[in-house]
Amino acid sequence: MNENMQIILDKIKEYDKIIIFRHFRPDGDAIGSTKGFATLLKNSFPEKKIYLQNSDFSNYLAFLGGEDEPLPDEEYADALGIVLDSGTAKRISNQKYVLCKELIKIDHHIPVESYANYEWVEEHRSSTCEMVAAFYDAFKSELKMSKEAATYIYTGMVTDSGRFRFREVSGETMRLAGLILDQGIDTDTLYANLYMDDVESLRFESYVHRKMQISPNGVASMYVSKRIKKKFKLSNEDASSCVSFMDSIKGSLIWIAFIEGDNGEIRVRLRSRFVTISELAEKYNGGGHACASGATVHSKAEAKALLNEADALLKEYKEKNEGWL
Ligand code: AMP
Repeated sequence: MNENMQIILDKIKEYDKIIIFRHFRPDGDAIGSTKGFATLLKNSFPEKKIYLQNSDFSNYLAFLGGEDEPLPDEEYADALGIVLDSGTAKRISNQKYVLCKELIKIDHHIPVESYANYEWVEEHRSSTCEMVAAFYDAFKSELKMSKEAATYIYTGMVTDSGRFRFREVSGETMRLAGLILDQGIDTDTLYANLYMDDVESLRFESYVHRKMQISPNGVASMYVSKRIKKKFKLSNEDASSCVSFMDSIKGSLIWIAFIEGDNGEIRVRLRSRFVTISELAEKYNGGGHACASGATVHSKAEAKALLNEADALLKEYKEKNEGWL
C-alpha cells in the first residue's frame, strides 16, 4: 500500500467538510473518480458534508448525473479540498480550490507539478478511478461501497483504459475492476451510454476519414476549423472526439486532432501507439501520458510546426525500432 493513502484517510477523518475537484473538460475518469470518491465518502461518513464543486460540464457523460450547486466562497475556508485526476493546478475546473484550508491531490498523470499539501500520484495506474478502487480495497473494513459509487468508478476505469486495452492495464487493474464490478453494475446500460451515437456524429466520423492527412512518415491528423464545427453542428466536445477516429490506421503510430476554439486557441489532442508523445506535448503548452497527451497552439503555423516535429519523431522511431504496426 502506498503510504500516502493512510495520510489521505486520516485527513478525511479529520475534516467535517470536504470539497472535491477535477480537471476541466472532464472525461469519464475525471467525472467517475470525483463522483465515485464523493459517493464512497458519503456512504462511509454520512455525518460529513461532501461537495463536488466544478465549473464546467460534459454532455457526453451527462448520464452519470450532475454535480453540486456553487458554494459561497466562505464555505471553502474550513474545508479539505481533494483534487482527483488533474496533473496541474491550471487544469483544475474550479480555481477556488486555493481557498481550501488544505489540499490533497490524487492522480495518475506524469507528475509535472506539485500543487497540494498531500499528494498521492501513481503514474503507472491506468486511471484515477483505479486508484479510488485501490483506496477502497485498502480500507474496505472502514469504507462503504455502493452500486452507485461502483458505477462511477467502473466508468472511469473502462473509459480511461480504452476498455482495458492500454498498456497501463495490469493484473491489479483487472483484480480491482473485478472487485468493483461485483457490486452489481448494470453494464448493458453503461456500455449503451458509452457507445450509442447520433447520425450526425457518424457522418462527421466519415468526413474525418475522408479529410484527414497522413504525413510522409505516417502521422495522421485532422484540423477541425470553426467552419467545420458549424457545418456539422459540433460542440467543442463533439469536435475533439475525432482524435479517436484515427486510432487504428496501420503505420500511423501517432495521430493528432487540432480543434479551433473561439478564443484564438487551437486545442491539440495527441495519441500514439508505442511512441512517447508527452514530451512533444510539453513543448506546446501541454502534457499528459506517454501515449495520450494534450497541448495548445495559437496559429496554424504553430500547428504545422508541431505536426512536423511529430513526423520527425515518428521517422526516428520507425528507423530505430522494429515490430510496430
Ligand atoms: P486530451 O487529449 O485533452 O484528452 O488529453 C490527453 C491526456 O493528456 C489527458 O490525460 C489529459 O489529462 C492530459 N492533458 C491534456 N492537456 C494537458 C495539459 N495542458 N497539461 C497536462 N496534461 C494535459
